[in-house]
Amino acid sequence: MKFDLFSEYLSHMEGTSGRLELAKQLSSLLSELTPSETPPALYMVQGQLLPPFAGEPMGMASRLLLKAMDRALEKNEGGGGSPDLTALLAEAGDPGILAERLGMGREHGRLNLSEVYESLLQISRQSGSGSQEEKISRLASLFRAVSPLSSRYLARFVMGRLRLGVGDSTIVDALARTVLRTPPEDEKGWKAEMKSVRQKVEGAYNLCSDLGRVGEVLRRDGLEGLGSIRPSVGYPIRMALCERLGSGAEIIEKLGRAAVESKYDGFRCQIHCDGSHVRIFSRNLEETTGMFPELAREARRILGHRSAIFEGEALGYDGENDSYHPFQVTITRKRKHNILEKSEEIPLKCLVFDVLFLDGEPVMDRPFSERRRLLEGIFPVHRRTLSEREVPPDQVFGASRLIETDDPHTIDLFFDEVVEEGFEGIIAKRLDGVYTAGSRNFNWIKLKRSYKGALSDTVDLVLIGYYRGKGLRTRLGIGAVLGAVFDPVKGEYLSVARIGSGLTEEKWKELREMLDDLRVPDPPSVVRSGLVPDFWVFPKIVVTVLADELTRSPVHLAGREEGEEEGYALRFPRMVSGPRADKGPEEATTVDEIRRLFDLQRQRSLRE
Ligand code: ATP
Repeated sequence: MKFDLFSEYLSHMEGTSGRLELAKQLSSLLSELTPSETPPALYMVQGQLLPPFAGEPMGMASRLLLKAMDRALEKNEGGGGSPDLTALLAEAGDPGILAERLGMGREHGRLNLSEVYESLLQISRQSGSGSQEEKISRLASLFRAVSPLSSRYLARFVMGRLRLGVGDSTIVDALARTVLRTPPEDEKGWKAEMKSVRQKVEGAYNLCSDLGRVGEVLRRDGLEGLGSIRPSVGYPIRMALCERLGSGAEIIEKLGRAAVESKYDGFRCQIHCDGSHVRIFSRNLEETTGMFPELAREARRILGHRSAIFEGEALGYDGENDSYHPFQVTITRKRKHNILEKSEEIPLKCLVFDVLFLDGEPVMDRPFSERRRLLEGIFPVHRRTLSEREVPPDQVFGASRLIETDDPHTIDLFFDEVVEEGFEGIIAKRLDGVYTAGSRNFNWIKLKRSYKGALSDTVDLVLIGYYRGKGLRTRLGIGAVLGAVFDPVKGEYLSVARIGSGLTEEKWKELREMLDDLRVPDPPSVVRSGLVPDFWVFPKIVVTVLADELTRSPVHLAGREEGEEEGYALRFPRMVSGPRADKGPEEATTVDEIRRLFDLQRQRSLRE
């Protein structure tokens, strides 16, 4: 496909509102592509060059972009005086609009999608001396060889500002639609079939975390072909998540006899070992191997020539007191510089809680109790008494602490012990449960420390807008933010709280700068709120929020059913974290979770 035609599709998508329409547009685009063109197209519509775990972000500085435009014009004009692009950019307010207006594409229509993609990959990978010059010259050549409309998207893309609002779930929908094109007369049957196709596409995605790869296999080998996508070392598996319940009794009622573990408060690591090669992935599937050299080294030593994928929680270790550091200290290990120095100051211990692949075989579909046996065969249980740690001082890995019980009272006692130790709470696991990649269900159930009189758990909200500051806050330019939960069925973000406290002045300022970068003139099509903030922003930033309780509210739309007048809202919300680097907008708390939290709260108040 010619890149200029691809851009026309992007333009339609940009003008489209609602996820369903977006998925339909994307599906028509996909049907026009060859299988090998599918991955570049899918990465690019999400503003990426590769899946996130491959780490190839685009984010060129505007200075370089302007130089490339200048170069493209210069060549066109034969070196004649170029306009003042910095001033023109300020006037246009968007690098895409400026690029389009400049009409740089004298030879447009030449390049196809794959050629542009390859060139962008090379631009992104260029490093070292002379690389800036090379980037400018390559990008200038691209501008000269594409239409004005293509220049719009190219400019936005290289700056990391494409923002078409195409989330993972929209891509899954669109891919499913390429298999089942038009709804026939029997719409009910079509919907059921669509659901099953969608599940297969999503299932393949959960195993490899690469929508480009799923798209290519689907387009080449059809639905049956997706069976060839299996867990493999080096490709992160989308992580299993927990549901919530409110007490030991509810857990036993749901699971019967269950395994119960401490819920450690560090960061999750999915560790892939293949002979001597080790890769570590974070909760949101970014590669973090370089940050945690001691984990990589030890995993390599322990596994030797065996292949494995396993998961654990990494915690900072305080050797002097033989105890784990709190999250605020552990998190300082997530850094790109001075890594060795920091790893000596705050060494990590990894408490292993699951194994997904072993000796060349996926084991995710085996019951939890069997996986645990495999795990203990590699990472022994060191903690037998209360005074022991899961990992001895001179080691790095150990099995998580676990009890097995069918007695609610035993769970409650274990919970108290764990909380006393300073952890967040417990996670109960269904003994015969499989590892459900990429999904939140009752195979794992978390029970967290309850804040007196407060909502028993924090929620993760996507910011969709912000308000100018008043009074003391005028100086900061931000007084409050508008937060939303995610509705995965409709692909929409629904407002649930206006949050004006919880951060230091410094952090508010930092947050405002990040939000300014995401400002959009109108509410994005996937955003719904009864409130109108001073500025709308593209839904991207996720923050963790604590509130006193959930109430019903006429101004928030989260959970408002058709014909109802009220949605759910957080009462007295406050931020407990600034932007979370480990969560994307589609990983925020969902509207269903809010409904369930509301029910938990109601049951608790009935009990008290
Ligand atoms: P939270 O903000 O509560 O961590 P989350 O959406 O990131 O929410 P949850 O589903 O609530 O994830 O909780 C699972 C997280 O708890 C895992 O991602 C993991 O990092 C952590 N964890 C700590 N201890 C365990 C354990 N023993 N078993 C599984 N996960 C654990």
